[in-house]
Amino acid sequence: MQPMTAIRAIAISLALGAAGLPALASPQATATPGTASVQMQHIRNATTKIDYAGKTFLVDPLLAKKGAYPGFEGTFRSDRRNPLVELPMPAEDVMKGVDAVIVTHTHLDHWDGGEHQFVPKAITLFAQNEADAKIIRGQGFTDVRVMGENTVFEGVRLTRTGGQHGTDEMYANGPLAGFLGTAMGIVFQASGSPTVYLVGDTVWRSEVDQSLAKFKPDVVILNAGEARLVGYAGSIIMSKDDVLRAYKAAPNATIVAVHMDAINHMTLSREQLRDYVHQNGIQDRVRIPADGETLKF
Ligand SMILES: [Zn+2]
Repeated sequence: MQPMTAIRAIAISLALGAAGLPALASPQATATPGTASVQMQHIRNATTKIDYAGKTFLVDPLLAKKGAYPGFEGTFRSDRRNPLVELPMPAEDVMKGVDAVIVTHTHLDHWDGGEHQFVPKAITLFAQNEADAKIIRGQGFTDVRVMGENTVFEGVRLTRTGGQHGTDEMYANGPLAGFLGTAMGIVFQASGSPTVYLVGDTVWRSEVDQSLAKFKPDVVILNAGEARLVGYAGSIIMSKDDVLRAYKAAPNATIVAVHMDAINHMTLSREQLRDYVHQNGIQDRVRIPADGETLKF
């Protein structure tokens, strides 16, 4: 596929939702790690339910049934429909007990709340910036807030972290850069709770190093499925090598690898990552949860 064709296709499939569907529309760390437990349930793709300091957050809900959307055109294996697999439980159960939803960015594989009615319109919802907040409000959600450097939700400190959702070569192409857009990570902190750094859709960048140094997380959640575009070298998210890099860069943290086996353009499977983790002898601190699996820290 020629680059411009690929860019247009990505524009349609990432920025606007799928063809044929309506347009989609700190304070310094005060935590004393390890005295309270944190629970995370990996749902599917990047969808994660985190019980943190008495509150339940749902990050990046993609709640559609298997095959609901066309593959992202201009990306690896675009003939396959998304999601590739069903949710491990009914969408209603995913929403049970959720106090707030966090949307790291509005690509369809992280937020399809405009496509269905599972997410209550009045739920508290955090977006990365005003542009995303506007899109989400346009879908009828009434309590959409922008996460900042020092956002507190009922005792939990939420910090937006940065990155880049692709390589410098991709971002040198203006239209493609626009379509890849920005995506945030999140640091969860509360007094007495382990610090969790959910890195989000980014390649490894100085922002990631800086966040690791600043927050010294106890848990690092990596989107490690090595998603690829047609016609470009490199991944638009983390890869298996980044799992090893995180293991070394955060020597006391548990690394949780997600965002595999659910969306067409992932080139790394959990099975391949498991082999890599064993080959490198880093299985003591790397977890690769199955859909629906719960981890405690
Ligand atoms: Zn993603």
